[in-house]
Amino acid sequence: MLLSGLLGGALLQRACANYGIIGKKAAPVAGATKAPSGGERGKSSQSHLGPEVSANLAPSQDARIGGAQKNAPESSPAKNQAPRIALVIDDLGQADMALVQRLCNLDVSLTVAVLPFLQHSRESAAMANSRGKEVILHMPMEPIGYPAAGKNPGPGAVLFEQPEAEVREKVRQAMKEIPFAVGLNNHMGSRITPNAEKMAWVLGEVKKSNWYFLDSRTEKDTVALEVARKLGVPSMARKVFLDDDPNQAEMARQWERALAFAAQDGQAVVIGHIHPETLTFLEAMLPAAKREVIFSYASELAR
Ligand SMILES: [Zn+2]
Repeated sequence: MLLSGLLGGALLQRACANYGIIGKKAAPVAGATKAPSGGERGKSSQSHLGPEVSANLAPSQDARIGGAQKNAPESSPAKNQAPRIALVIDDLGQADMALVQRLCNLDVSLTVAVLPFLQHSRESAAMANSRGKEVILHMPMEPIGYPAAGKNPGPGAVLFEQPEAEVREKVRQAMKEIPFAVGLNNHMGSRITPNAEKMAWVLGEVKKSNWYFLDSRTEKDTVALEVARKLGVPSMARKVFLDDDPNQAEMARQWERALAFAAQDGQAVVIGHIHPETLTFLEAMLPAAKREVIFSYASELAR
């Protein structure tokens, strides 16, 4: 990888800037683990995350590598050989539109996950769609520790105490808020995703809309993918968080993990966030990465 120029710099420990929360990483195949950086990641240690976490994404049986690739750049690798990576950028909605513009300038197929009911929610979704990016709803859900500082999932959230009718209504309202959305992933949600009954309510609405579901895996005990599969909702799970630590060298390490997973399984879902540091990393890394992997919309990896 041509990442040597990105290596170095002080090691920063910082959680998701706007929301103070990100999930935990799957088991590393290659590369080091590191200390949790706060938010939900701090709720349990990396040592809990054994191979069973990564086992949630089935290996190559779903490697639709021979399929058509939308917006494939001419420099794409051979479609019957290269692994697929779905790059998903979370937490649009509050972020400045200049950052969204920068994200949309990245010349790969990628998916943006937009939080509802925020200042730039609709505008961000519309811009991403107009620039050929896939849009999904980043559904706010209650995390463990709510309502402590840094544990607020934001407006329109699914909360643990809400009855079924209210949960379903929250999801439907949020869905209407994000134009062009074709799927849903969870923002926070560590209190909800381990609960099969509540996830069935959420995913029942996803199914009605013929959307797909991406389990962000903010909690190791999540059952969301299992519930989605039972309901017949096209789905998959996040494999690597790119920017829990926004240090450039650490993001390079996480990217290498993603490549290793993709090589092993034929595909991998990588989640990053709309942070300036993440965009800087992607701008430097993507031109070379495009020659190694096929960048896909997350929907193309769902099954
Ligand atoms: Zn989020």
